[in-house]
Amino acid sequence: MKSLWKELESTILDNKKVLNHNCNADVCVIGGGITGISTAYYLSKAGLKVVLLERDALADKTTGNSTAKITSQHGLFYKYLLDDFGKDFAKKYYLANQEAIDRIEEIIRNENIDCDFEWQDAYVFTEDGKELSKIKDEVDAVKSFGGKADFVEKIDPNLDNVKGAIKFPNQAEFNPRKYLKGLVKQIENYGSEIYESSKVISVKNENDEYIVLTDKASVKAKYVVVATNYPIINAPRFLFY
Ligand SMILES: Cc1cc2nc3c(=O)[nH]c(=O)nc-3n(C[C@H](O)[C@H](O)[C@H](O)COP(=O)(O)OP(=O)(O)OC[C@H]3O[C@@H](n4cnc5c(N)ncnc54)[C@H](O)[C@@H]3O)c2cc1C
Repeated sequence: MKSLWKELESTILDNKKVLNHNCNADVCVIGGGITGISTAYYLSKAGLKVVLLERDALADKTTGNSTAKITSQHGLFYKYLLDDFGKDFAKKYYLANQEAIDRIEEIIRNENIDCDFEWQDAYVFTEDGKELSKIKDEVDAVKSFGGKADFVEKIDPNLDNVKGAIKFPNQAEFNPRKYLKGLVKQIENYGSEIYESSKVISVKNENDEYIVLTDKASVKAKYVVVATNYPIINAPRFLFY
């Protein structure tokens, strides 16, 4: 299946660089999806020297193939959070997600990134009348901690079979690759470095510093952020198998 975001934005980094010399950094970020690039952006902006190492190409994996929605709505999730973790937890999760939407919008505005960002309402809908109670329970769950959600019967005249939906207002969509291209430009402007085709093969801790090894060179860093989506090192509390 093709990614529309990749078709619309084919390159993230204009001059591809491979790490082939040893270097130093305050922080080595491993993984160049939205998590790694956002982390590198915030840390570089705060004045830290970051080296980001990406195994293949930036924003090409999960991020480059995502749905491109920026929402605090993720399926029917809040009833589960409320039942299993309580109201305070569900509310914190909701507010953190809402804040993330605002932060992304703020970055886009401040850095003047042209990435097709649009405010949109988000919906989870059902075409099966028997599932309506789940949608209504989710609306009640979100409202119970002050979240903004409504039950609606119709969402689009072209979707005839919708029996009901939960609507989250003021959510957003964008082209994640265009957005990340903007962040990458700023990361380099702040003096940090980004390398592609630079797969990390080990991370060692020596004398309170980390040595991050690729097959060609290494990065010595005070801190390491693993942003590879799936674990790549066998460390305590990592789900590695
Ligand atoms: C089909 C799908 C659609 C989704 N849609 C959305 C959505 O619309 N909105 C949303 O918020 N979330 C969505 N998600 C959730 C999604 O996982 C995250 O939003 C996000 O894209 C994950 O980004 P990431 O940077 O953590 O991972 P990735 O984008 O996968 O990036 C991880 C990077 O690490 C690199 N890497 C791996 N191993 C190494 C190594 N050894 N050395 C160096 N680099 C390495 C990989 O090459 C990769 O580039 C979706 C998920 C899926 C599966």
